[in-house]
Amino acid sequence: MSLWKHYLLPTSIQEAVDALSELDGTSAVIAGGTDLLLDLDQGRHPPVDTMVDITRIDELQQVRVEPEGIFIGAAVTHNEIIHNPVLKENVRCLVEGCGLIGGPQVRNVATIGGNVAHALPAGDGTIALVALDAQACIVNSEGETWLPIGDLFAGPGVTTFDRSRELIKGFRIPLSGPGEGSAFDRVMRPQGVAIAILNMAVWMRFASDGSIESARIAVGPGGPTPFRAHALEDLLSGRIIDADTLHESARTLQDEIKLRTSPYRATEAYRRHLIATLLDRTIGRISAQLLE
Ligand SMILES: Cc1cc2nc3c(=O)[nH]c(=O)nc-3n(C[C@H](O)[C@H](O)[C@H](O)COP(=O)(O)OP(=O)(O)OC[C@H]3O[C@@H](n4cnc5c(N)ncnc54)[C@H](O)[C@@H]3O)c2cc1C
Repeated sequence: MSLWKHYLLPTSIQEAVDALSELDGTSAVIAGGTDLLLDLDQGRHPPVDTMVDITRIDELQQVRVEPEGIFIGAAVTHNEIIHNPVLKENVRCLVEGCGLIGGPQVRNVATIGGNVAHALPAGDGTIALVALDAQACIVNSEGETWLPIGDLFAGPGVTTFDRSRELIKGFRIPLSGPGEGSAFDRVMRPQGVAIAILNMAVWMRFASDGSIESARIAVGPGGPTPFRAHALEDLLSGRIIDADTLHESARTLQDEIKLRTSPYRATEAYRRHLIATLLDRTIGRISAQLLE
């Protein structure tokens, strides 16, 4: 049985969004297909009449430095992200998160835009982009809009934009400045290939006296949408990293996050326990980066 009837390969963003608009909700954007084809095959996605493949659109494949920051096209693959020197230098948590996704075959075709558009609360690339406070560009036949990445998610697998009529063009992240660093880590089931038991991305900026000037922490799954730990971020502001700070950080995050027991992955209690481990690992790695 065929999973679609027609397959388009547009070579410009305008061509793609015009096709989506004309097809009026009967189409789906496809990038690497690593989520979409399984969802179609297993009945989690409604039938698709026309696939609009965005992997021939040059602008969606680009990583470039612009005056506002680094632009990462939505169809850039995880493999391209992990080998890009500008990204390695500036957005370490994204490189680390994308480097853990699937295996080499998946990373060769799966894209950062697909990870975000799939809208799972614990997508590894997504959690890294949330900690980096990325902006996302949504395009439709009327034009484009930049939004904070957190505004794209409405629930598990549900986006605030219409995936059958709009597409993500790409993401924008500020270049890294002095005293800034980031790290990503996760815990998987030993046989797990897709979604983490718990993942975490941390971005920090340190003042010259060694105190934390600003921090952003994202954790998944920590609720129906990718979770940003605002209470912990407030606690960390102005603090020095020591055993007391790490202990209080774990308590604060355990209080603000909404963890649950999943029959396939882990209990709520085990996820709660992992918070301290992931905070220790990520914050420890950021401190080490800043000494490099
Ligand atoms: C074996 C295996 C292991 C995996 N391991 C991991 C893992 O460790 N961590 C993890 O986070 N994920 C994992 N995944 C999930 C998946 O690989 C990622 O989410 C991947 O980034 C999806 O990208 P894609 O290009 O394949 O998306 P696709 O499957 O092409 O698309 C996914 C969804 O996004 C939409 N879409 C795609 N691009 C756009 C766009 N630019 N604009 C609007 N909508 C768009 C599609 O219509 C579809 O609804 C795994 C999957 C497999 C099969």
